[in-house]
Amino acid sequence: MTLSETEALELDANDPGHRELFDVPPAQGGDYPEVAYFAGNSLGLRPKATRSELLADLDSWAALGVEGHLDAARPWLPYHELLTGPAARLVGALPSETVVMNTLTVNLHLLMVSFYRPTRSRHRIVIEDSAFPSDSYAVRSQVAFHGYDAEDAVIRLRPRPGENSLRTADVVEQLGGDVALVLLGGVNYLTGELMDIPTITKAGHAAGAIVGWDLAHAAGNVPLALHDWGVDFAAWCSYKYLNSGPGAIAGAFVHERHLGADLPRFEGWWSTDAKTRFEMTPESRPPATADAWQVSNPPIFSMSPVRTSLEIFDKVGIEVLRERSVRLTAYLSELLAGFEVITPADPARRGAQLSLRVPEPGAVSRRLRFEYGVIADSREPDVLRLAPVPLYSTYHDCWRAAAALAAVMA
Ligand SMILES: *Cc1c(COP(=O)(O)O)cnc(C)c1O
Repeated sequence: MTLSETEALELDANDPGHRELFDVPPAQGGDYPEVAYFAGNSLGLRPKATRSELLADLDSWAALGVEGHLDAARPWLPYHELLTGPAARLVGALPSETVVMNTLTVNLHLLMVSFYRPTRSRHRIVIEDSAFPSDSYAVRSQVAFHGYDAEDAVIRLRPRPGENSLRTADVVEQLGGDVALVLLGGVNYLTGELMDIPTITKAGHAAGAIVGWDLAHAAGNVPLALHDWGVDFAAWCSYKYLNSGPGAIAGAFVHERHLGADLPRFEGWWSTDAKTRFEMTPESRPPATADAWQVSNPPIFSMSPVRTSLEIFDKVGIEVLRERSVRLTAYLSELLAGFEVITPADPARRGAQLSLRVPEPGAVSRRLRFEYGVIADSREPDVLRLAPVPLYSTYHDCWRAAAALAAVMA
């Protein structure tokens, strides 16, 4: 495909996103005032509304002090409940199955306290070999915490030799009777592969395992139906496709069939039912909802950006975003025809991200940034990741990235 700037601009006129809702950083090089931003899979851009909404919450504190817990325009005590409905809609869950709390890896640990219950004959955990390191460290430390050997207990799934992504049938085949937990990324952070979540979940259950999903790269990227798929539990962060800012408060899902069940949980005063919390009883009385997995009272000023961002997803709709995402990613993929793309070519098996095999990706991404104003993400030793984000990326951004990459690689 030839690189035509005019064509890119025409595509943008016919298929606009919602860039006007976001602050796009100025470019530090190149011919255009704004960056072409492809790192929304790492840290999403700031919605313009985030600043004023956060300041309004912050000012409730100035105006009311402790009384803000009940009297703020958005009272702090039930603040997290404002996020539950929108988060549940985004991941295809019931509100009772969903809670926004903590950060991603912390949530994985809290959920594994309940859902990784190893026995001598069934104590293995299945992850991807290319799992994000935090997930790998989390499961290895859980295995060790229960007195097992991580080298033996953690099964790492690898693509077949010469292939870049996992085949569903190969994943299913590895789910033996010794597997206690399957914990995979819904979309792999490195390759951008979208896993077949319903099929693998069903196969894990058939093997007698619990199936949890890390949706860090899936939430806000692809439509999800966690409830209908029967997923046991899931967790995701809010600073990637969910545009809620660095270290933003994360989400967690626990399937309805586990709610109110007699599962081990680590508790604190936010685990107990809000209606009787201030009776200050020595024993907690957890509600039969995902709120029971909360521990502490949550940070209001960190939840405020999550609320603002989820409102955008509610307004636009993840299905509509996904349609634009498929078109935008297909366009970028065509423009990058000369490169080795390790992400699956089938749109049903990928989200918004394309990962390229590129030598010295760190040097390439620095040149893209400072000479062309294109922000990409490098993973040593040889991967460059580009994520056209359907909310704010444009066809013109894709054209800029492809043109800049061609120039840098020449
Ligand atoms: C981004 C990411 C994380 C980051 O973990 P935090 O607890 O949010 O710091 C973990 N796992 C995966 C798969 C990720 O993509």
